[in-house]
Amino acid sequence: MARVSTPAAALDVLRLTFGYDSFRGTQEQVISHVVDGGDALVLMPTGGGKSLCYQIPAMIRPGVGVVISPLIALMHDQVTALDRLGVRAGFLNSSISPDERRATEQAAVAGELDLLYLAPERLGTEWTQEFLDRLEVSLFAIDEAHCVSQWGHDFRPDYLRLSILHDRWPTVPRIALTATATPATGREIVERLGLQNARTFVASFDRPNIQYRIEPKQQPLAQLLKLIRTEHAGDAGIVYCLSRKSVEKTAEALSREGITALPYHAGLPSAVRSAHQTRFLREDGVVMVATIAFGMGIDKPDVRFVAHLDLPKSIEGYYQETGRAGRDGLPATAWMAYGLADVVQQRQMIEGSEGDAQHKRLLGQHLDAMLGLCETLRCRRQLILGHFGEASEPCGNCDTCLNPPEAWDGTVPAQKLLSTIVRLKRERNQQYGAGHLIDILLGRRTERVERWGHDGLSTFGIGTDLTELQWRATVRQLLANGVLAVSGDGHGTLNLTEASWPVLRGDQQVQLRTETLVRTQRSGRRTATRPDGVPRTRSLAADMLAAGDREVFELLRAWRADTARTASVPAYVVFPDATLTGIAQARPSTLEELMAVNGVGLKKLEQYGDDVLTIVAAASERPPEDDTDPSPV
Ligand code: ADP
Ligand code: ZN
Repeated sequence: MARVSTPAAALDVLRLTFGYDSFRGTQEQVISHVVDGGDALVLMPTGGGKSLCYQIPAMIRPGVGVVISPLIALMHDQVTALDRLGVRAGFLNSSISPDERRATEQAAVAGELDLLYLAPERLGTEWTQEFLDRLEVSLFAIDEAHCVSQWGHDFRPDYLRLSILHDRWPTVPRIALTATATPATGREIVERLGLQNARTFVASFDRPNIQYRIEPKQQPLAQLLKLIRTEHAGDAGIVYCLSRKSVEKTAEALSREGITALPYHAGLPSAVRSAHQTRFLREDGVVMVATIAFGMGIDKPDVRFVAHLDLPKSIEGYYQETGRAGRDGLPATAWMAYGLADVVQQRQMIEGSEGDAQHKRLLGQHLDAMLGLCETLRCRRQLILGHFGEASEPCGNCDTCLNPPEAWDGTVPAQKLLSTIVRLKRERNQQYGAGHLIDILLGRRTERVERWGHDGLSTFGIGTDLTELQWRATVRQLLANGVLAVSGDGHGTLNLTEASWPVLRGDQQVQLRTETLVRTQRSGRRTATRPDGVPRTRSLAADMLAAGDREVFELLRAWRADTARTASVPAYVVFPDATLTGIAQARPSTLEELMAVNGVGLKKLEQYGDDVLTIVAAASERPPEDDTDPSPV
């Protein structure tokens, strides 16, 4: 049988079905390799375009591509999105009725599906295995493959079963994909999934459109509000908090301020969780306040910011969470507020945790790397990419690049603090947390200071050259770089470490990062902020357009909201923002012109083409909008 060459066939599918002009990064190589029957391990950042790497081969190869995905709650949306593109897809998981299940199974057996999404636990049953035996399977795609790693941050026991794919169906090509790939995780995936013969494709992990910013935590809620109001009004975003309680408090506080904010954590009833997730996906401009239980596989392309109000436990987790911003390639912000209490809390949690010494050491290493990122004087992106083994230049789009922090010699303050700890321990056998030590250094006669006679210490009042804020920043940085330790007793007691002594003796200098309130306020310049500094009140995509195009965009957006609501699908399934902006700029007047816009494929052309052309034509006939900007709010 004559076959069209892989690259040509793949490009046809890319253009006609998905409506994109060209492949990104390693996509084309991966697709060729898998179409030709090879196994692949694909490491690509969130938003890099992993889905096409298995969807296109599944459409080209005979049979049905079976996609193993842990994201049961999202399978429905994934399949709907494919359906809108004219791709024949179905899913099997615990959420569907027996009738739906049978219909999907029959369609798969009859060869009527290109893609079948399957929850990993299903593979454990003999029944499913026999069902798969009856199919012509074109490939197995293992999405979120890092879930197989026991040392990683998302371990799913069901994923260990996936070794069966190779054992039982050795001739079916397998493609494992993940966005979390330190070299160690990569090796573990290969090992556990038996991918020794797979070719590994590593894309750059850089997400240049995301601006990385980490600022000292002072009044976290006020800082967050400022971020939303001045840079992300009306945008969809995710706010991550560590505890369920802070999730609820933050969501309430934002709602009181008139922001559409919804809570999400594992303690909420599952109906509430899924209702909130659906609103986040379907409505424009919803802010989800969540624990890390939320987000994996959320492929909403127009999340404009991800904010962390608490310190993540590892760079891997942080990068994956922040990677949920800006998948559409438009500017987005990854912002975090972090302070002394975060460091104390996390160090303490590790100290007090159950696990064995090796496990604690591992957690400690993850945290150290994360703290290193927070306290760095270098480009944040360079440091993150370096963590994933990728060399790069300073990026120009992170806070340290935009507003280089200064270093100052903190040796003397460090010595004052450390010697206070030494004296308390040596002379009185007492130990205290940061707050009390700072009171002593600042010479404050608090009730506790007087009760314990700490105003008699020789270090009492010797630290008045620094403010309380500066002291807290100093303690935080000493904890971050291991010159201080916190015990696991739950009281935040500060202790010396091996690294304290060289500092006390003056053999080792301590470099600290300057941070001032002023700096915090000045930071935050970004390409998408309006040059006149007027706070944005429209969505970012609209903001990037010229006034006339913006009007077309807003009309298209309103049409999209209606269409999505009627069809009960997320707005971006109709068209993502990036495509609507493209249409607003191109102002197509024929279907051919519309098809040339990135993101418009045949099926959507057929479904929406006439509507879109009518809107564009009507908008273009109106008198142009007054180009002056509305007054600042
Ligand atoms: P990942 O799964 O790696 O996080 P996705 O597969 O969801 O990323 O892709 C992210 C976004 O990029 C989606 O909106 C997708 O449609 C788009 N995309 C993927 N490949 C291309 C391409 N070659 N050209 C244009 N857009 C693309
Ligand atoms: Zn940078």
